Amino acid sequence: MEPDSPPPPATRPVVALVEDEPDLAEMATTYLTRDGFEVRPAADTRTGLRLVEAGGIDLVVLDLGLPDGNGLDLLRGLRARENPVPVIVVTGRGEEADRVVGLELGADDYLVKPYSQRELAARVRAVLRRSRPAPAAATAIRVGGLVVDTSAREVRRAGTPIALTPREYGLVEFLAAAPGQTFSREQLLDHVWGSSSRWQAATTVDEHVYRIRRKLVAAGVTEPRITTVRGFGYRLDS
Ligand code: CA
Repeated sequence: MEPDSPPPPATRPVVALVEDEPDLAEMATTYLTRDGFEVRPAADTRTGLRLVEAGGIDLVVLDLGLPDGNGLDLLRGLRARENPVPVIVVTGRGEEADRVVGLELGADDYLVKPYSQRELAARVRAVLRRSRPAPAAATAIRVGGLVVDTSAREVRRAGTPIALTPREYGLVEFLAAAPGQTFSREQLLDHVWGSSSRWQAATTVDEHVYRIRRKLVAAGVTEPRITTVRGFGYRLDS
């Protein structure tokens, strides 16, 4: 792959470019496309809104001076949506007031014309980075009355966090990922501690389980519970 060939289509962020000056729109489209974005152009507020409503837009670059109205009205409409799409407003020189209103309306950033294409691309990247939600991987495991929130690394019962040490949390998360499955102490040492019974006493696991049980009971958790499989290990039952 050549160094500046764009990434494959599926990973290209989609930018709606609402700009009525054809030269500027073309220049920005060329530059952003080369920089790895897919650009969908619109030359007025109506087309811009339709474009966003059609879905699949990751960010809007919005010129405020448009032929069929003020871009601020479009911005208002975009901010009122259930899933607001990030917006960079673009103003002409001397449109200070519009820029301030734009930011007050929740624009994520602004550019003043004339701007360099490089700066536009850098702002687009920065805003996308800031507005990206956390990875869509599963972030919560529900088991019995517990929620194991793997992104916050927190265990909650009825919305209230249970104070666990990082290792205790790790043990609960590991067991909660496979309820009903029994793991030996050695497996738990291996997966949760990254250690082995050669380096760490298997009773470390017992001590942690003992402490977790006490904390769960204190928090009023009846299910799930950690079941002892005698002479072998533990599992989480709900
Ligand atoms: Ca304009």
